[in-house]
Amino acid sequence: MNLVFLGPPGAGKGTIASQAKNHYDIPHISTGDLFRNHIKGDTDLGKQVKAILASGDLVPDSITIAMVEQRLKEADAKKGFILDGFPRTIAQADALKEMTSLDAVVNFVLDREEIIKRLSGRRVCKSTGKTYHVVFNPPKVAGIDDETGEALIQRDDDKQDAIENRLNVYEKQTEPLIAYYRSTGLLFDIDASASPEEVMAEMVKVLKK
Ligand code: ADP
Ligand code: ADP
Repeated sequence: MNLVFLGPPGAGKGTIASQAKNHYDIPHISTGDLFRNHIKGDTDLGKQVKAILASGDLVPDSITIAMVEQRLKEADAKKGFILDGFPRTIAQADALKEMTSLDAVVNFVLDREEIIKRLSGRRVCKSTGKTYHVVFNPPKVAGIDDETGEALIQRDDDKQDAIENRLNVYEKQTEPLIAYYRSTGLLFDIDASASPEEVMAEMVKVLKK
C-alpha cells in the first residue's frame, strides 16, 4: 500500500503513522525525521537545512525531492510506504507522480486552535524521535522518555514564533495539495480531533473501501 499523509503540522500524522506502519507492515518515511537525522549527524545536508528547519520554512524542493527519491529506492519501500510530510508543495507532488503511484492520500483535518495546543505541548526523544504530549500523551515520568530514560526536548520549531510561521507556510504552500489530490479521487478526509485509537480505526475502515 502506497500512502501519503497530508495535513497541517501537529495534526497527528506521525502518531498515526507509527501505528499504521505495523498494521500494514510498510515503512514510515517522514521527511522531517530524515532532515533531523541529517542535522543530528552533522552531514553536509544537515548543515544546509538546520536553520531552515528551526525557522519553520520549507527546505527547497530540489533538495527534498532528491532525498525522497533516494529513500523510495531502498528495498523496504518496495512493498509500500507511508509518506509523512511529503509532498508539501505542488512541485513535490508532481515529482512524486513521476517516481511512483499512490493508493490513497489521507488528509488529517484539525482546526487551528487544536493544532496550536498539540504543537506547543509536543515533546520528543531526540535519539529515537518518539513523540509525546505533556497533556494528551504524557510519558510515565514527566520529561523522561519511557524507553531510553533520556530527557525529552521541545523542538525549536515547536516554539511559538516558529509555530505561527509553519501554519502560514502550510496554508500558502501545502493546503493547495488538498484540491490537487481531491481532483484525482485519491483523497480521503479523516477527522483528526478524536483520540489516536479512534483516528487509526477510522482510517483503517476508510482505506478498506
Ligand atoms: P510536522 O511533523 O510538525 O509537520 P515535520 O517533522 O514534518 O513537521 O517537518 C519539520 C520541518 O522539516 C518542516 O518545517 C520543514 O522545514 C522541513 N520539511 C519536512 N518535510 C518537508 C518537505 N516535504 N518539504 C520541505 N521541507 C520539509
Ligand atoms: P504531526 O506528525 O502531524 O506533526 P504528531 O503526531 O507529532 O503530529 O502529533 C503532534 C502532537 O499532538 C504530539 O505531541 C502528539 O503526542 C499529540 N497528538 C497526536 N495525535 C493526537 C490525538 N489524536 N489527540 C491528542 N493529541 C495527539
